[in-house]
Amino acid sequence: MEDDEGSLMYPARFDYYRPSTLNEVLELMEEGCRPMAGGQSLLPMMKLRLLTPNCLVDLGEIEELRGIAVYKDTVKIGAMVTHNEIEESQEISSSIPVLAQTAANIGDLQVRMRGTIGGSVSHADPSANYLPTLLALDAKVKLVSKSGRRSLPLQEFVRGPLLTGLKQGELVEAVEVPIYGGNGLIRKFSRRKADFAIAIVTLLYKKEERRLNDVRVAVGALRTGPRRLTKLEESLNGRMGRIDVSDILIREVKSLEPVEDLHGGVEYRRNVILTLITRMMEELWR
Ligand SMILES: Cc1cc2nc3c(=O)[nH]c(=O)nc-3n(C[C@H](O)[C@H](O)[C@H](O)COP(=O)(O)OP(=O)(O)OC[C@H]3O[C@@H](n4cnc5c(N)ncnc54)[C@H](O)[C@@H]3O)c2cc1C
Repeated sequence: MEDDEGSLMYPARFDYYRPSTLNEVLELMEEGCRPMAGGQSLLPMMKLRLLTPNCLVDLGEIEELRGIAVYKDTVKIGAMVTHNEIEESQEISSSIPVLAQTAANIGDLQVRMRGTIGGSVSHADPSANYLPTLLALDAKVKLVSKSGRRSLPLQEFVRGPLLTGLKQGELVEAVEVPIYGGNGLIRKFSRRKADFAIAIVTLLYKKEERRLNDVRVAVGALRTGPRRLTKLEESLNGRMGRIDVSDILIREVKSLEPVEDLHGGVEYRRNVILTLITRMMEELWR
């Protein structure tokens, strides 16, 4: 079809490469090619002409980006590992079950079969499921380019809606997640099950001698990127029985800046966050 600037059905023309080595990918990226994982977000954006790359480099053949490796304290997940592989991975279910639950709550099966963890964090949709969970777990994003490797904590990598710390020519190689030896809950509220979150919260906690410990509460679907509720965490750590934390919770949720769109405004979303966390606390006390 002719390149028709008026058409929103087809992307503008681009070259397409599917190399078999990481080195070739990085060389093509140096020349200005954009990486493509499952194309789940990239292709719709190209069709809407929000992105018009001249050249795409498909990461589908790159073995180094695929594996899940469990070490003593961390799990390393290759950028091209799909949500479905994370959901079904025995290693992840037994070492970091909340991460498997987070993946299982993404879109529908078709989306989970093609969408990847590397594509999700690089796209940095503020409502993406992984962001609060990876923040709560203190995950790091491993980056590679022709000039070498570096690693950024998730909160430094995600800078805002669709905004990351990726430099020109840099690729997400893997996500490294410390193993959290406690319990985890994730709760997502969306209009339909497969939709992006209107509000999303991850809660991690340990119970040691009946005391709560190392509590982490992270909220997603925010304009600022995901945020921890540190005051709430402090008030829960070391507690033995049920306590009333509603004042602290309300104050902290008020300071959050949820994304705002046709699915809900800021105040509505703050209320949903408050409800989700209140219900999660009930589960925790039980
Ligand atoms: C119908 C639908 C429903 C969805 N629902 C949800 C949901 O409920 N929750 C949720 O979290 N997500 C949801 N998603 C998003 C989806 O899960 C994908 O994670 C996301 O679209 C990224 O897709 P992808 O991995 O195919 O990356 P792509 O679309 O291929 O790439 C996305 C962006 O990242 C860049 N990129 C890709 N890989 C890398 C890399 N390794 N290094 C650097 N840059 C890279 C690309 O250049 C592009 O800019 C949904 C998507 C669809 C289409």
